[in-house]
Amino acid sequence: MKVTTPAPTRWPVITKDPAHLAVIPNLVDYDRTYATFRWADEQRTLAGLADGRVNIAHEAVDRHARGDRAGRDALRFVRADGSVRAVSFAQLADETDRFASVLRRLGVQRGERVFSLLGRAPALYTTALGTLKHGAVFCPLFSAFGPEPVCQRLELGSGSVLVTTRSLYLKRVADERGRLHALRHVLLVDADGAPEPDTLDFAALIAEAPPYGRIAAMDAEDMALLHFTSGTTGRPKGAVHVHGAVTAHSATGRYALDLHPDDIYWCTADPGWVTGTSYGIIAPLVHGVTTVVDEEEMEPERWYGILAEQHVTVWYTAPTALRMLMKAGADRAREHDLSSLRFVASVGEPLNPEVVVWGLEAFGLPVHDNWWQTETGGIMISNYAAMDIRPGSMGRPLPGIQAAIVARDQTGSPVVRGGAAELVTDPDVVGELALEPGWPSMFRGYLDEDERYRRCFVGGWYLTGDLARRDADGWYWFVGRGDDVIKSAGHLIGPFEVESCLLEHEAVAEAGVIGVPDDVAGEVVKAFIELKPGYEASDALQRELIGFARKRLGTAVAPRRLEFVAALPKTRSGKILRRLLKARELGLPEGDTSTLEAGR
Ligand code: AMP
Repeated sequence: MKVTTPAPTRWPVITKDPAHLAVIPNLVDYDRTYATFRWADEQRTLAGLADGRVNIAHEAVDRHARGDRAGRDALRFVRADGSVRAVSFAQLADETDRFASVLRRLGVQRGERVFSLLGRAPALYTTALGTLKHGAVFCPLFSAFGPEPVCQRLELGSGSVLVTTRSLYLKRVADERGRLHALRHVLLVDADGAPEPDTLDFAALIAEAPPYGRIAAMDAEDMALLHFTSGTTGRPKGAVHVHGAVTAHSATGRYALDLHPDDIYWCTADPGWVTGTSYGIIAPLVHGVTTVVDEEEMEPERWYGILAEQHVTVWYTAPTALRMLMKAGADRAREHDLSSLRFVASVGEPLNPEVVVWGLEAFGLPVHDNWWQTETGGIMISNYAAMDIRPGSMGRPLPGIQAAIVARDQTGSPVVRGGAAELVTDPDVVGELALEPGWPSMFRGYLDEDERYRRCFVGGWYLTGDLARRDADGWYWFVGRGDDVIKSAGHLIGPFEVESCLLEHEAVAEAGVIGVPDDVAGEVVKAFIELKPGYEASDALQRELIGFARKRLGTAVAPRRLEFVAALPKTRSGKILRRLLKARELGLPEGDTSTLEAGR
């Protein structure tokens, strides 16, 4: 199947003159760096441990704490009232040592999983990095998840320790504790000396912790991070990442985010998702830069205030947030002194060309889109500080990354001949975006699901599940998802999880869930419901079902819209045809999946 989408001409290329940039970019000559880059050289920029061992926390914290950056702010937490709590690299080393020591005292072994269910608070960073120091595995959960997604992930990941707040524990976990057989310890960060039954006081444990001693020396292939992500069918998938991934965090921080030693960096991603770990914690700390953390939710005035008052130089954010700022108007940005800002990047969902160009109006800087996913562990395709921007394009592959477009047949399957995937060589032909395996932050498995992992690799390539095209000059353009997964406000949502929850309601016979376009969130979740005999469609039932889903799944995952239908479209074998639901919703001809795929 060949779907050709000509490059948009409405948006002129934004040209850059490196001589006029605020600092000399780390990547000035893309072609040269791409041709000469070697992962082994990047690895040599890291400190490492004796005998070729490694620990992400050593690269991110301890080596700076022992060097000339010890007194520099590693993290700056902006509280609700605007006041700031700064934590230096030396203090962060001490806090994380203490948490590692707490884990040892609790009998947590290497490789065991420590989960967090927290907002952007200091305890999150202590937990993540202290866990890595001890050689245990860190797994963040999204605090807007309801009890079902939280407990399902704790169960699938065999979480032994959970660090959370009193309120999140009581609302999401306490009632389900009985089913969480592996969960031995729950630590409440706001216990204030009076933890709930069967929980411990995080702050008290940290205060009493003895010195940890030597950081765990890990093999580069040892598991460090577990990130749950959603597929079209089945349960959430736990993507396994290793300590050696830090080489990719370092390289992408250098080239895609253009981090320099004196930067003040702000990543707005929620810590419950992979960006919040790879680029909210690890990459900036590895580069020894100061990271700003906003403890509150997004609000335009607050965000502009933070950019100005914290003198943020590099800002990594997301299309939904940028669209919200754009709605508030560029004048709001211009009322603040944003002169420190020199580089703006975005990730997680398609970035409209309008927003890229709006950056020029609001900040005097374009927005640099980049692309990656939970499985890749780090940025794979990016627009670079010194490189011209083609608005709407995700950019070009990172040095060290081989990307390609794999041809798809009529059924949407990758074309493989003689064991090798057929690569699209013509420009602007849509196929599946693929990456050559072997980069350090590539996921090493889906937890306990070897077959699902193996299916991601076809004919020598890792298939990303995204449809894309490459133009004649090597720039990549996102076209759409190759599957039914929904991206709402940057969060990946598996339709199956939502359908399964709705099916638990007594009135629901069948449920089909899709993403429908939304101006700000990109997509929102919509459910189509077939009722059981004896139930009547009504506004009250619609509200009840949405409320039912919210309670179990949380507001970020539950459907925002819900429609009753007489019958859901199905295949002969009884599988719900979500694509048809989507085509109908968008008013497209029913068999026309190519238009569907091209539609963003
Ligand atoms: P996640 O694994 O939750 O980080 O989601 C990864 C998915 O988000 C990708 O497979 C894409 O579908 C989407 N995505 C990430 N970055 C971009 C981007 N720059 N443009 C379009 N889609 C993106």
